[in-house]
Amino acid sequence: MSAETPLDTPTGATEPLIRFDDVTKRFGDNTVLDDLCFSVRPGKHVTLIGPSGSGKTTILRLLMTLEKPDEGTITVAGKRLFPAQEKERREARKKIGMVFQQFNLFPNMSVLRNITEAPVRVLGRPKEEAEARAKELLELVGLGDRCGARPSQLSGGQQQRVAIARALAMEPRVLLLDEVTSALDPELVAGVLDLLRDIARTTDITMVCVTHEMNFARDISDEVLMFDSGKVIESGPPEKIFSDPEQARTREFLGAVL
Ligand code: ADP
Repeated sequence: MSAETPLDTPTGATEPLIRFDDVTKRFGDNTVLDDLCFSVRPGKHVTLIGPSGSGKTTILRLLMTLEKPDEGTITVAGKRLFPAQEKERREARKKIGMVFQQFNLFPNMSVLRNITEAPVRVLGRPKEEAEARAKELLELVGLGDRCGARPSQLSGGQQQRVAIARALAMEPRVLLLDEVTSALDPELVAGVLDLLRDIARTTDITMVCVTHEMNFARDISDEVLMFDSGKVIESGPPEKIFSDPEQARTREFLGAVL
C-alpha cells in the first residue's frame, strides 16, 4: 500500500484506518499475539475483551510504538507503523493518542501545560494557539476552571479528564483507551465513562478500548473483539457478543465478568 493511498476507494468502500496483518509478538518463549489479523474502519469504536494476559494491552502498546512486533505489518491511515522507516512510523504514530490506566500526567507541570506541551513541542503549534485549544478542551472535560492546578491537586477522575484532554489536543484520528477507569475510586468512574460516551457520540474519532466495564463497552462499541491466547476468537456487534456469543470461551469469560 503506498503512503498516498486514499482512505476512500473509487468504489466508495472505506479502507480500514488500522490494520494488523499476521502480527506476532513474543516476550521470550511467551507468544502473546499469534498471527493476529484485524482491522478497524474510520470512526468506528472497537472494544477488546478477554481474559487477563490475552494480549489486549500489547495491541495498544504496539500502536503507540511502545512495543515492536516480531512479525507482520501494522498500518495506520495508510502509513506503515511496522515495519517502516522512522519517518513514516512517526507520521503514522502522530495519528494516535492514548489514555492510560494510571493517567501519566507530568506532575511538575500545570494542567494547562500538561495539555500544551506535546502540541507545541511535537506538532510545532504556537504557544498561544495551543493554550487557547487546551482551554477549550478543559471546558469540554468539565475542568475549565482548573488550568493552573497541579495534577496532585485534582481527584483521580479529574486527572483522568486532563489525560483525555491531553490526548485530544494532539488531534488524533485514533484514541486508544486502556482500562481508563480501573485506577479510579468507584464514585468517579461514571463521570469519566459519560465523558467518553459524549466524545464517542459527538466526534468522528476512531476508538480502540480495553475495558472491563461491559455496560460501557455495550454502549459505545460498534464491534467487540474477544481475545484468547493472542487471537481473536470471536467478533461482532455488542448485542450479539454480549447476548448470544457463539464460542464457549466467550460465554465463560462473560459469565465471570458480567
Ligand atoms: P492483557 O492486556 O490482555 O491483560 P497483556 O497484553 O498485558 O494482556 O499481556 C499479555 C502477556 O504478555 C502476558 O502474559 C504478560 O505477562 C506478557 N507481557 C506483557 N508485557 C510484557 C513485557 N514487557 N515483558 C514480558 N512479558 C510481557
